[in-house]
Amino acid sequence: MPDPRFAPIEISADLSGLPESERAVLGKLVEAARIMDALFLRQVWAGNDALLQTLARDTRGTGPDLLHRFLLNKGPWSRLDHSAPFVSGVPRKPGGANFYPIDMTREEVQRWLDGLPEEARNRAAGFFTVIRRHGNGSPVAVPYSQEYQPELGMAARLLREAAQLTTQPTLSRFLRTRADAFLSDDYYESDVAWMELEASIEPVIGPYEVYEDEWFNFKAAFEAFITVTDVAGTANLRDFAGHLQSLENALPIDPRYRNPRLGTLTPIRVVNVVFTAGDANRGVQTAAFNLPNDERVIREKGSKSVMLKNVQEAKFKTVLQPIAARVLTPGARPDVSFDAFFTHILLHELMHGLGPHDISVAGRATTVRRELKDMYSAIEEAKADISGLWALQRLVDSGHVPAAIGRSMYSTFLASMFRSLRFGINEAHGRGVAIQLNHFLDAGAVQLVDGHFVVRSDMMRRAVELLTSEVMTLQAEGSYEKAEALVARLGVLRPEVQRALARLQDVPVDIEPQFKAAWAG
Ligand code: ZN
Repeated sequence: MPDPRFAPIEISADLSGLPESERAVLGKLVEAARIMDALFLRQVWAGNDALLQTLARDTRGTGPDLLHRFLLNKGPWSRLDHSAPFVSGVPRKPGGANFYPIDMTREEVQRWLDGLPEEARNRAAGFFTVIRRHGNGSPVAVPYSQEYQPELGMAARLLREAAQLTTQPTLSRFLRTRADAFLSDDYYESDVAWMELEASIEPVIGPYEVYEDEWFNFKAAFEAFITVTDVAGTANLRDFAGHLQSLENALPIDPRYRNPRLGTLTPIRVVNVVFTAGDANRGVQTAAFNLPNDERVIREKGSKSVMLKNVQEAKFKTVLQPIAARVLTPGARPDVSFDAFFTHILLHELMHGLGPHDISVAGRATTVRRELKDMYSAIEEAKADISGLWALQRLVDSGHVPAAIGRSMYSTFLASMFRSLRFGINEAHGRGVAIQLNHFLDAGAVQLVDGHFVVRSDMMRRAVELLTSEVMTLQAEGSYEKAEALVARLGVLRPEVQRALARLQDVPVDIEPQFKAAWAG
């Protein structure tokens, strides 16, 4: 049996407006994206390549189903089941993935890092190196360009070919600089080029998110989102960016932690997915993202939010509406709306760019990411969600967001929290949501009526502000201890929540996209 928790659904994008040249570009990009898939598989576990070949050869019995699950999870461990193996004979999923030597523990890596001179430590803790062993056994940081040389060489060639084909200069520049980065490990220029992209095709391709490195959140995993711009949606949403500085200025934290100059406004893109691969297509599907992750680029150029509209619509219909019907009180269910869902995800992405990033701890310049280590992802996701609600409420109050969204956003988010919790709390988004739901329950802002949940709007506003303040303040302080305590206290599944989750067993957890669309046509 394939995993019934993932509902197969065709994801397609309207390419009728694209000229022949740009369709050919898409063909090249999809080819390059497939390479990201292979690289990500290897990053997850050193044994993945060999296991994939074994599974692909077994064309009878359970073979095809195991292969299907392997490709869905990008390895032999179910990402929805605390990484439980579904192929017999495989080891436990390595917490440091294939980024660190298989015979080193997290503590040994930490001790080794602590003993390095500063420059070497920065390189070893960087996004784009893996830690391997020298011939003499001592650990060494190996750059991605070396570790993944043949594949990155091929991907670079495809990006250059695509750059030749396109008639759009900013797209051509991104593709050329990204091809260079694959060979040099210097992603700065291509990240800047991606920030300046103004094109009908909006590709993300390369090493980005750090979730797969469960030990340290240091190492970037390969992924690709090949997408086309939804022009009308992007224009509608762009004016949100004009409110970001005033939101930052009003954040419910000590004024000295606010950033008086956010710099470049956060560009927003609404896109439709043509193809995804690697870290972007494993287990639960990404509905939106904010990139790049490099603090230097964020500081100088800001970051960009990309909303995957066709993916979100598919999730809303397949998952969110059935969940609302099972966990919300009957009176709350009609409040759940796609507009509120879509707008909150937008604010979630925008708020990743606000709040503390570069901080100072006891006079030492550092970043929130570095100080919070393995707590970082869950805390940062909780921050984006909760401050997204906080920001949405302010925009409703000032008339910049329709009042209808103001009426539906809390109930919609409540239903959406149950959607996230089903991903498990060992995953950053799920754990971040558990923190919020338990906070709401403790504050009386979410209440239980006959086993169903309902929002108390009058209590919600204050509860949202309090948690926004708590999370952003511990980030500003770079306090690992406070982050750990918050996660331990609230990042858990309580019995009443577990009972509600048990009623969702027949609802798909997520979609499994089928990219049968006409990208090659
Ligand atoms: Zn996020």
